[in-house]
Amino acid sequence: MNEVKIAVLGSEGVGKSALTVRFLTRRFIGEYSSSSECVYRKCVSVDGRQVNLELYDPCSQACEGRTTLHNLLHWADGFILLYDITDRSSFLTVKAISHVIGERRLGSTKRDMDSFMFLVGNKQDLCHMREVQHEEGQNLAAELHCLFFELSVAEHYQEVAHIFSKMVRKAIAT
Ligand code: GDP
Repeated sequence: MNEVKIAVLGSEGVGKSALTVRFLTRRFIGEYSSSSECVYRKCVSVDGRQVNLELYDPCSQACEGRTTLHNLLHWADGFILLYDITDRSSFLTVKAISHVIGERRLGSTKRDMDSFMFLVGNKQDLCHMREVQHEEGQNLAAELHCLFFELSVAEHYQEVAHIFSKMVRKAIAT
């Protein structure tokens, strides 16, 4: 059976736990309280293939630290970099994380960047409070050679499922 490991990264409050729990349970949990990092396991079927998926959610831990990232780079097959479109500082955080990942991936043949990292802007339902324009996300994704999505974890279960399936599909294809 294939195994795929995905880490969801971003600053606190962007919706990492909400995204992870939404994918695993289909439910949007408004206040998800966990103070420690979690690895969740789920068996998923993608294109008729059974895949053991492991998801890393750092919960409240600072995830932009270089040591954590360094360890995760060895562990993960893919990264979902999540920011909150109503919080510019969260966009700057994923930018910094993406550059560290980019540096470490230079010269690596394990994965192409477009399968290794997805950039995701969350809380689209709050677009009246938007601080990060859609084009800024698109431009950063173009710079990083990765896919870009904007969604509301609260409202768009199908989009959430699509993102994880796409990453799993790419990971098992490479
Ligand atoms: P984490 O610290 O990155 O794991 O963030 P959480 O998953 O704990 O979410 C932080 C807050 O953002 C919680 O109050 C969530 O209910 C809220 N949240 C997450 N996703 C969305 C969304 O798509 N829309 C809205 N309006 N709130 C969201």
